[in-house]
Amino acid sequence: MHEKSIAELSAGLRKGAFSSLELTQHFLQRIETLDPRLNSFITRASETALAAAKQADQRIRQGTATALTGIPIAHKDIFCTQGLRTSCGSRMLDNFIAPYDATVVARLKEAGAVILGKTNMDEFAMGSSNETSWYGPVKNPWDETRVPGGSSGGSAAAVAARLCAGATGTDTGGSIRQPAALCGITGLKPTYGRVSRWGMVAFASSLDQAGPMTKTAEDAALLLQVMAGFDPKDSTCADEPVPDYTAFLHQDLRGLRMGLPVEYFQEGLDAGVAASLEQAIAVFRSLGVEIQDISLPNSPLAVPTYYVVAPAECSSNLARFDGVRYGHRCQDPKDLEDLYKRSRAEGFGPEVKRRIMIGTYVLSAGYYDAYYLKAQKLRQRISEDFQRAFEQVDLILGPTAPSTAFPLGEKISDPVAMYLNDIYTIATNLAGLPGISLPIAPVCGLPVGLQLIGNHFQEARLLNAAHQLQRHTDWHQAVPPGFA
Ligand code: GLN
Repeated sequence: MHEKSIAELSAGLRKGAFSSLELTQHFLQRIETLDPRLNSFITRASETALAAAKQADQRIRQGTATALTGIPIAHKDIFCTQGLRTSCGSRMLDNFIAPYDATVVARLKEAGAVILGKTNMDEFAMGSSNETSWYGPVKNPWDETRVPGGSSGGSAAAVAARLCAGATGTDTGGSIRQPAALCGITGLKPTYGRVSRWGMVAFASSLDQAGPMTKTAEDAALLLQVMAGFDPKDSTCADEPVPDYTAFLHQDLRGLRMGLPVEYFQEGLDAGVAASLEQAIAVFRSLGVEIQDISLPNSPLAVPTYYVVAPAECSSNLARFDGVRYGHRCQDPKDLEDLYKRSRAEGFGPEVKRRIMIGTYVLSAGYYDAYYLKAQKLRQRISEDFQRAFEQVDLILGPTAPSTAFPLGEKISDPVAMYLNDIYTIATNLAGLPGISLPIAPVCGLPVGLQLIGNHFQEARLLNAAHQLQRHTDWHQAVPPGFA
């Protein structure tokens, strides 16, 4: 059962080929026996999952099921879940149980999806390898000596290892797409504002966006359908109608124009990854897609711009973790200042501290204009590059990450090398654009991701192109050998 897509599982449930209870038990069993190798879950929710599965079975019998009713999924541990711990990968929130559900969680629950548990992640979503998690790193199911990518590495590894039918993730600079690429699954980061951020622990509020992580583009469409849409509780959530993503999947690609940014195919891109992209581009061509070169001249500025904007916002967002209202509190504080200092010193890991320090520095009087304001101006330029490109093409195609999964420990002591792993994903967050990563031909047995970027609210088009590629290839069906 675990090898089936959500679309197939949904059909099976409705036909009565198996029940949601059987399906849920099957996944829980897999998590129990296989996850000790991967560490992809921080918290399991076996009892509530079984109860939800029974309810889903009832709903299916009554004929009120949606496409997601009875489907076992996992949530990145950044989404608040009522009564179930939300740690955000941090010691700071190790004891935090939210009294409410994030909008994304509530909507998926309403649709009848079953929550198997919460997935491991880089601490406060800061990282590209899952090694900054307080709960230890996640292993890549394709090679357990390698990273799964980050920060949604737990979700990516769990979907790739078929420990859940699909999962949620969040993407501030690449955290859905890069782990999707490194684990060989499909991951969609929607347009900024497409999905509500309410109840999602904030990292960098102007960049954060939630999205689906699945085996196929069709499954991503099914999850996004429920996750997307206006939410009065998030003032940055767009009041835009949600199209029928599934209906759009089958559209012919003839005449679609795709642009290859010359800056994305230069030095720094692994030769194997480039060759695999060539193969996928040839498939798109054979489907009638018109391919042309484009330029995004400010691309080299995306990583430095992000590492001013994101830390600035994180230093402000993470100020709320002070040991007073919730989260970790140090033992026997001498006075209030000691309580703040030691609670934060003990609760946060080194990467989070580094970001808070950079953030407070770039926002401080005297440096604000030189760094923060300058970064905002560059962010605008980067956005304009994309708008010019979208006058020529419908979608942009490039790599998701510069290489395949790297060995655990390789980059953890070199922050800049780690930051460069997001070189192709970060600009879309700065510009608020949607992007999707798809598995293409592997290199030396390791997955490779192809990224498609669309203009604002063009998720339907991204999913359509992705689905058509998947209909004509079988790269997305590969399962890590140890998890078949
Ligand atoms: N790797 C990037 C960072 O560490 C992006 C993380 C993310 O998208 N949450 O900031």
